Amino acid sequence: MRNIKLFDSAEHKFVLLNESEPGEEEGIRSNQYLVTHGENGVLLDPGGFGVMPSVLTELVRYINTENIRAIMLSHQDPDIVGGLSTWLELTSAPVYVSNIWLRFLPHYGIASMAQFVGVPDAGMTCNIGPGFQLQLLPAHFLHSEGQINVYDPIAKILFTGDIGAAMLPSDREYAFVDDFAAHLPYIEGFHRRYMVSNKAARLWVEAVSALDINILAPQHGPVYRGRAVADFLAWFRNLQCGVDLMTSSGHFSWEPQYE
Ligand code: FE
Repeated sequence: MRNIKLFDSAEHKFVLLNESEPGEEEGIRSNQYLVTHGENGVLLDPGGFGVMPSVLTELVRYINTENIRAIMLSHQDPDIVGGLSTWLELTSAPVYVSNIWLRFLPHYGIASMAQFVGVPDAGMTCNIGPGFQLQLLPAHFLHSEGQINVYDPIAKILFTGDIGAAMLPSDREYAFVDDFAAHLPYIEGFHRRYMVSNKAARLWVEAVSALDINILAPQHGPVYRGRAVADFLAWFRNLQCGVDLMTSSGHFSWEPQYE
């Protein structure tokens, strides 16, 4: 297990936590991110129930749990929310999630919704502490109907949730995407089947293109840096996916390969 500091200054850090070994948790391997500024921290997509103890172990290397100032959920899937009820025993920090998922979260065994903040469709800016601000940006229908991204203007990192997510074969592990063409086979099937439509993809690319981005950090798989950032955005902007590819109920003009 190792952590990767994607941005590291004296005051501010953006850390990929728990870069776990393959097979550590059954199911989908996930990235959890911690953004710290001074002693304050924000946890992005804390992960499923099975990874919670190891994420916590890594988090306390950087901040005390009482200095968790917010938890941000990109969307409602179990690999993101499954461990949340345990986190809520540790922190009284606000939890940000799209407005449209608020009413579903109690089904994860969450007793009280008092800590939750519904994020409006247009997104919002979060002032975490002195000099520490994160932007919640809309990424709806990519793939979730209520998907949010988190932009850190100090690190110039955009946390993209499932956008850009990859599942690597166990014999091909790498932490960074430098060669987008070589990486494409590991993302194409997922994006064609899970992302809802080219319109959603194109509008998102147009919106985030206004940001100064050094790194795209997805919830699964390696992070995009350097040229691979622009290469991914150019590919995704033109991607035919989801309903674009439906020919009849249950059938797509592009045949997915899931292996
Ligand atoms: Fe998902």
